[in-house]
Amino acid sequence: MNNSDKIMLSCATCGQQFQFGRNVYDGKFILIYKLTVCRTCYSNNHDGWAPHYEQKILMHIKEQGISEPKRNEDGLLPRE
Ligand SMILES: [Zn+2]
Repeated sequence: MNNSDKIMLSCATCGQQFQFGRNVYDGKFILIYKLTVCRTCYSNNHDGWAPHYEQKILMHIKEQGISEPKRNEDGLLPRE
């Protein structure tokens, strides 16, 4: 298989590149934010987005005209 067939995306939160297409999906599309994040971020933030990612997420949803979701019990943005 040709490497150039891979579809690479960069994670919306940590900025890491990951493969997202052609059989391998190492990330997750989060519908409420319309963001694609890598698998690591997705699994590490299951209780809500860590505060140091908030700014990126909030900026993105503002650009997209998405309203900020209700925060969870810990005061964090819900993961999805
Ligand atoms: Zn990431």
